[in-house]
Amino acid sequence: MTKRLRGRAAVEQRRRRLADEPLCRLCAERGVITPSTVPDHIKPLALGGLDIDTNIRCLCDRCHRMVTAEQFGKTRSKGMGGCDATGLPTDPTHPWAAALGRA
Ligand SMILES: [Zn+2]
Repeated sequence: MTKRLRGRAAVEQRRRRLADEPLCRLCAERGVITPSTVPDHIKPLALGGLDIDTNIRCLCDRCHRMVTAEQFGKTRSKGMGGCDATGLPTDPTHPWAAALGRA
């Protein structure tokens, strides 16, 4: 498994990566502006990915949780994705999401 930085160097690396990509990449692809909060390894370290900038995409918490669950084979039950502050479903596979143009 790839070594990743620890301590102060890791904090600085994280800060720099978030500064380089301040908006969530996956939200941006859907035309949604969301601040990124997590530098995500595109190919997870646990799956042999490298801790290098070209393997990093910055995501918001929600997208990060979603891709991590997908990468590690956890399935989400339909309708269990919860809802956002407006009461609309956050799960893009929810039938309402398609109707609302979120899918
Ligand atoms: Zn996002």
